[in-house]
Amino acid sequence: MKQPDLNRMQELVRELLVQLGEDPKREGLVKTPERVAKALAFLTHGYRIGLDEVINQALFTQATSSMVIVKDIEVYSLCEHHMLPFFGRCHIGYIPDGKVFGVSKLARLVDMFARRLQLQERLTEEISKVVMEEVGAKGVGVMIEARHLCMMMRGVEKQNSTMVTSSVLGVFREHLATREEFLTLVKRG
Ligand SMILES: [Zn+2]
Repeated sequence: MKQPDLNRMQELVRELLVQLGEDPKREGLVKTPERVAKALAFLTHGYRIGLDEVINQALFTQATSSMVIVKDIEVYSLCEHHMLPFFGRCHIGYIPDGKVFGVSKLARLVDMFARRLQLQERLTEEISKVVMEEVGAKGVGVMIEARHLCMMMRGVEKQNSTMVTSSVLGVFREHLATREEFLTLVKRG
C-alpha cells in the first residue's frame, strides 16, 4: 500500500507553521515538521493495513453459541472534520456460529479502523460489519464511548460530554432480549 511522502509532509507542516504566525527556524520548532509528519503517518496507519493481515489465522473453531463480550478496547482516532483526536473505549459482543476471534485480534481490528480519519458513527459500523462478515457471527453489537477534543477544546460547556454510538447486526438487531443482554453486560462494572 502507498506510503505517505514524509518529506513532502514536512514541507507542508513547515508552511502551516508559517501561516500560523510561527518561525519554523526557531530552535524549538526545527524538528517539529519531521515529528508531526511521522506522528500523522502513524496515526493514520490503518489505511495501510490489510484486513487479511489482521484476520489472518485469528479465527478459531469453537462450538459455542453463548455471547462473547470483549470490553474496554482502547480507541484512539482522529475526527475527519477537524483532524483532532477522539478517544475512548469500544465494547464488542457477538454470538458465534462455530468460529470465534482471538481476543487480541479484535483490538487490532479496532485499531485498523480507528487509525484513520474517522467519524465515530462510521467507525462503530465498520467494526460491527467486519466482525459479522469475517467471523460469520449470528449477531454483533458494538458500542463506542468517546470524548472528542474538537468538542472539548473548541466548544462551550461541552468539556465533559461523552459521545456514545452503537451498531447492532443480526440477532442483536432482531431480538430485543439479546440486545439487552449485550447492553447489560457492557454496562456492568
Ligand atoms: Zn471534529
